[in-house]
Amino acid sequence: MDSSVTMEKIVSLAKRRGFVFQSSEIYGGQAGAWDYGPAGIELKNRIQRFWWKEMTQLHDDIVGLDAAILMHPRVWEASGHVENFTDPLVDCKKCKQRFRADMVPEEKLAKKECPECGGELTDTRKFNLMFKTNIGPVDDGTGLIYLRPETAQGIYVNYKNIAGSNRMKLPFGIAQVGKAFRNEIVTKNFIFRTCEFEQMEMQYFVKPGEDEKWFDYWREQRWAYYEKLGVRMDKLRWHRHGPGELAHYAKDAYDIEYEFPMGWKELEGVHNRSDYDLTRHQQFSGKDLQYIDQDNGNARYIPFIIETSAGLTRQLLMVLCDAYEDEKVADKGNEDDWRTVLRFHPALAPVTVAVLPLMKKDGLAELAQDIRKDLKEDFATDYDQGGAIGRRYRRQDEIGTPFCVTVDYQSKEDGTVTVRYRDSMEQIRVPRAELAARIRADIKAYKRV
Ligand code: ATP
Repeated sequence: MDSSVTMEKIVSLAKRRGFVFQSSEIYGGQAGAWDYGPAGIELKNRIQRFWWKEMTQLHDDIVGLDAAILMHPRVWEASGHVENFTDPLVDCKKCKQRFRADMVPEEKLAKKECPECGGELTDTRKFNLMFKTNIGPVDDGTGLIYLRPETAQGIYVNYKNIAGSNRMKLPFGIAQVGKAFRNEIVTKNFIFRTCEFEQMEMQYFVKPGEDEKWFDYWREQRWAYYEKLGVRMDKLRWHRHGPGELAHYAKDAYDIEYEFPMGWKELEGVHNRSDYDLTRHQQFSGKDLQYIDQDNGNARYIPFIIETSAGLTRQLLMVLCDAYEDEKVADKGNEDDWRTVLRFHPALAPVTVAVLPLMKKDGLAELAQDIRKDLKEDFATDYDQGGAIGRRYRRQDEIGTPFCVTVDYQSKEDGTVTVRYRDSMEQIRVPRAELAARIRADIKAYKRV
């Protein structure tokens, strides 16, 4: 055993403890798609809720939206995706493998030599990442429709609806979480880059000229979010897009990167999209998308947009990698010397409190069940009565349960229970009546060790 965090360890734990499974595994798996198991969906829901609360509850000027995945195909012409949302691809004529040209070492690409088998490569072609399908009863091309490659466009096309229905004044934001689809060629690294994934995007509409100020503001806000999420801040850094990297819509762009086991990679983008999107939608739809500024003599203009765009499933991978630790806790010379622990922020942990009777007999199981019943309304709980207590603690450590409550013979006599803390493994006795308040206070005061 060693304490390094590798992708193999993460993938193996994720499967073993029901976080993430390969899609259609019994058929050999489906590349680019993954299924979230019982622990995984809890974690995903909690990350989503954490983000949603941050964006909507804690920012008075942001409201939510859930737009459809299927949109009018003209949306993707206006957005520039039909023309520009492409990867440069090369194929090997010999081994038939396909590569993103920007990921083939330069000297190999110049010689048109396959990085895998040395065979001859084709010329570089543009490959559009959007999934196409067909809507309606006839399949003759007239029903062409795309699976959205980002959630942002659903927000842009609704900006007038929301400004009108909710009487929003600039600056204001719209937040959305939902599925997006991209026909990605390179889908290794587990759930980092997949063909089906989820995004958490917020689009902030501002008066032209105030965009740079709000761009700075949102960079600060997004950095502070990760501090609240309780991840290791020395594993995060900013990357500013150079002139060659800027997307067609962007005036300025920064990524927050995280140091994953496979290196520093993009986690989320904060982009100044200028007035590109709404100008284009105005052109393509023929509808007036100007904002009427009643506070400034009914001046009309197209708002600028600051976007914060994060991958939910990618953030889940980050949270898993960040929380993962193989820790040496004893020196007996056997496998029990080590424990695998996920140090999630308690607000994210799939199970908050596990209730464990020391023994099944003598009424301890019934008492433990009864205590669990008390806690269930307020916390995600688990109950486990199988096997040695030490083993049961380890099982909870592996899914990141921050609090274990152990019910023993003393509990029957004086009504106290033991609270065992995941991170420090410290144990304290607490009266049953104070248990819920104690856990609530511990969650609020949580600091990553
Ligand atoms: P890349 O250049 O890595 O393909 P991108 O810069 O196009 O990604 P954006 O379009 O800015 O990514 O998407 C915003 C966020 O959505 C990313 O920061 C990432 O967290 C997430 N994301 C994008 N593509 C994928 C994917 N294929 N799988 C999982 N998450 C993704």
